[in-house]
Amino acid sequence: MKTTREFPVEEGTRKRGIYLLLLMLGSTGAAVAFVQNALNPAGATGVALTTAATAAICLALAGLTLWRRIPLAALEKLLLGVAVVVICVSVATGLYLTPPDDLVLRGVVATMLWMPLIFVFCAIAFDGVTSLRYSLAAYALIVLLTLPHAIATRSGTGVTDGIFVPLQAYLAYAVIIVALYFFSDLQERAFTMEETARTMRRLANTDALTTLANRRHAEEQFVRELRRAERYGRMFSVLMIDIDHFKDLNDRHGHHAGDEVLVDLARRIERMVRAADTIARWGGEEFLLLAPETSLADAQRLAEMIRHHVDANALAERYRITISLGVATYRAGDTVQSVVARADAALYLAKREGRNQARAEIPAGSGG
Ligand code: GH3
Ligand code: MG
Ligand code: MG
Repeated sequence: MKTTREFPVEEGTRKRGIYLLLLMLGSTGAAVAFVQNALNPAGATGVALTTAATAAICLALAGLTLWRRIPLAALEKLLLGVAVVVICVSVATGLYLTPPDDLVLRGVVATMLWMPLIFVFCAIAFDGVTSLRYSLAAYALIVLLTLPHAIATRSGTGVTDGIFVPLQAYLAYAVIIVALYFFSDLQERAFTMEETARTMRRLANTDALTTLANRRHAEEQFVRELRRAERYGRMFSVLMIDIDHFKDLNDRHGHHAGDEVLVDLARRIERMVRAADTIARWGGEEFLLLAPETSLADAQRLAEMIRHHVDANALAERYRITISLGVATYRAGDTVQSVVARADAALYLAKREGRNQARAEIPAGSGG
């Protein structure tokens, strides 16, 4: 399965931080090689030039990375290109362009120790398959570059002569590339699974028609709100909203028109409530609004506002839609069922008294 990774801004910042660190390491490595070559009586000009240039390029790229002068994706390709060129040029210079010398050849071996930097970089910068492709290309390049020298010196007796040292490097590189690919594959799988879990969680909490919270999710929120009210002595209110004579609307205009009205009503109520409120599809044509930190009086005002808004809109006019609402507020010792029962009772009252109205429960302690 193909996954696209979209990193948020902080991820980009973190990557830039890692690249900065790698570049500082790279310039330090080059500087050390430069000093080593300078201290060597047989030090080669070619090595001095390549190491000095490498250190300078690394520092310049570090500056670009630090001051964000370049988009991340372009920076990554540039870094990869520079790293490959620097390593290949250093190796080629040491092997073929300077007179054979043990210290220079040891310098080549030291440079080859930096190859894994490229593989690690690819694994950080690119997705699994692209990283593998780039790593293998760099791998092929270094093999092609070093193999002729290994063959040419196969009968030599120097420490870097023959195929033994390069072969160890080829094998070590292969192990690193495979390990990194395996790791990034695992990571991508975990990422996909996390994404799937997120989607499933969302679907499990959403009503398919209106995309509002479904009853399951509303009940969860309800329980959370009850606990909060209990523990911290807070208040919250509940509005039960029911479309009047909805069955008639379905009968007269068809089920499709009914669905359209449900979706339209969902969007309208959604726009009228606070971000902290939960509006859910509680049943067929019944919505529940959970309003934290809202008193009975405020909830009544909200209910009247919603009722009026629905009564006054165009779709409602076309289909003659009205709604009835029942309002209840939290009391100590309540359960989800007890609050809903009071809201339902208030709604029933609204229906009985002619519909298109909002009724509140009778407040506790008022003798009703
Ligand atoms: P009242 O004013 O007493 O609420 O009358 P009502 O007709 O609205 O109430 P009733 O409970 O008798 O009917 C509810 C109707 O809602 C019946 C059902 O066909 C319809 N309904 C439930 N879910 C959906 C849906 O998803 N789409 C559509 N189009 N209709 C639905
Ligand atoms: Mg109804
Ligand atoms: Mg109903």
